[in-house]
Amino acid sequence: MNIHQYYEVDIVNGPGTRCTLFVAGCEHQCPGCYNKSTWRLNSGVPFTIQMEERLLRDLRDTRIPRQGLSLSGGDPLHPANVPDVLRLVKRVRRECPDKDIWLWTGYSLDQLSAAQRQVVDEINVLVDGKFIQALKDPMLPWRGSSNQVIHYLR
Ligand code: SF4
Repeated sequence: MNIHQYYEVDIVNGPGTRCTLFVAGCEHQCPGCYNKSTWRLNSGVPFTIQMEERLLRDLRDTRIPRQGLSLSGGDPLHPANVPDVLRLVKRVRRECPDKDIWLWTGYSLDQLSAAQRQVVDEINVLVDGKFIQALKDPMLPWRGSSNQVIHYLR
């Protein structure tokens, strides 16, 4: 998997103070997408094991307590990203059980494949659906358009 950005301290993408990872690869091509540079799977830089270790370290950092991890993009549930994202969320669940995991995807919850659902089974909150420009609402917390749904899963 490739990534575009990693914010070790983020207060914008989800509740509280968080670590946020923007992955590469998205097949939805929503008109008005704010993040077109992330569409290609081979854009950005590789998500290395060192990067993964750093992220886990940051989540455990008690000097700046993090509420959890946010996964965005691009699309963390792009089929090519699912194996790496699944490994990551399982590690966070196991090694940082007090942290919550939020994930943004352009797929709809009811259309996910079995592999994508394995990821969803490990996370706390899924924000789903494509961005639809005609339904854009800057007042909505944590989503761009009103068709998108925040699913509180656990
Ligand atoms: S799902 Fe998100 S990243 Fe993908 S095209 Fe739509 S707005 Fe852009």
